[in-house]
Amino acid sequence: MSHNVSYDVSSIRKDFPILGQYVHNKPLVYLDNAATTQKPQQVIDRIHQIYTKENSNIHRGVHYLSNKLTEEYENARETVRSFINARHSHEVVFTNGTTHSINAVAYSFGEKYIAEGDEIIITELEHHANIVPWQVLAERKQARLKVVPINDQGEILLDAFQRMISPKTKIVAVSHISNSLGTINDVEKIIETAHQHNIPVLLDGAQSIQHQEVDVQQLDCDFYVFSGHKVYGPNGSGVLYGKEKWLEEMPPYQTGGEMIQKVTFAGTTYNELPFKFEAGTPNYVGAIGTAEALKYIREKGIRAIAGHEEDLLHYATAQMGEIPDITIYGTSNRKISVLSFLIKGIHHYDTGMVLDKMGIAVRTGHHCTEPLMNHFGIEGTVRASFAMYNTRDEIDRLRDALIKVKQMFS
Ligand code: PLP
Repeated sequence: MSHNVSYDVSSIRKDFPILGQYVHNKPLVYLDNAATTQKPQQVIDRIHQIYTKENSNIHRGVHYLSNKLTEEYENARETVRSFINARHSHEVVFTNGTTHSINAVAYSFGEKYIAEGDEIIITELEHHANIVPWQVLAERKQARLKVVPINDQGEILLDAFQRMISPKTKIVAVSHISNSLGTINDVEKIIETAHQHNIPVLLDGAQSIQHQEVDVQQLDCDFYVFSGHKVYGPNGSGVLYGKEKWLEEMPPYQTGGEMIQKVTFAGTTYNELPFKFEAGTPNYVGAIGTAEALKYIREKGIRAIAGHEEDLLHYATAQMGEIPDITIYGTSNRKISVLSFLIKGIHHYDTGMVLDKMGIAVRTGHHCTEPLMNHFGIEGTVRASFAMYNTRDEIDRLRDALIKVKQMFS
């Protein structure tokens, strides 16, 4: 049951067929949503419909199916544009996901704007996907990667960030919301500060697009990236939003079909935006499926979803207080949807294994944030992450199961 009266979580759950199943003879409690979200029937049906009635390669056909699906693909782009409130639909590039999008920017922006001795700023709480591409770029260009530290609540130290900026700083890349801690980073302040020095900012939105309203014009971020599969859409699809002025200037990251205007053996001219960045046959099924997921979210209302998830996080945090010797990692006041913790003396992996036997799916380990784990001097955590379809009853089951885990290992 939701404690937000206008939010009908039980009817939402009915839209997600996977949630109705039993695991190890127990009703599934799916709390691994930061890793990937489940898909509503509406998205599953849309994909089914493409393969049963509409499939055809897009953008190059003269025939009915190809033209129809090209239109659907471009409609999907428009749906994304309006969902994140981008100024132009050609600022929306379809990719394979967040990792792909960040790699594309790191390579392409790096190729054009990063030279020896330049500096790239990231933070200590980034996902590996927002660390390694910049590290590789720094190596390739003999540039320097600077890392903004965090405090023990899991918040980025803004003073340190300000001090780190120098005339050599060329880009800042930061997650909007931390996947391991749930901290909602003060990206407004980061963007404002960076822009005072004319430095562009990339926001890793892998954990924000599904949890709160995102308006790229209001945020004024230069790049915003996310994955379809984390926002109730299909796997292998994602988005790279970039301000027109950057995308126009940046060279293509991959080359081949679709991204060209004219090819001769003497040379090639590139296609206009956004096609310049979409080499080869795009994952049009993924893009259309992701747009369908965004429509689903829009129907339910992102603010109502955020309110529900905030209630779940507060409730879960309070319930954890009933379990002795539990430490929560990530204790910022600005937090959403993620509860990362350890029970003293019990390995995170053992906790996860026992929870699984009780039908509860959580993630254990470093969550692709090893430097962040190093900050806390731990190897990993148990992470319960909430989505629009989770309930307080499920959190009660988690609490009871953790009490059992504690008894088993003591
Ligand atoms: N960034 C953050 C904050 C994430 O949580 C994730 C996935 O967990 C990624 C990037 C990478 O996303 P993907 O694996 O979908 O490319």
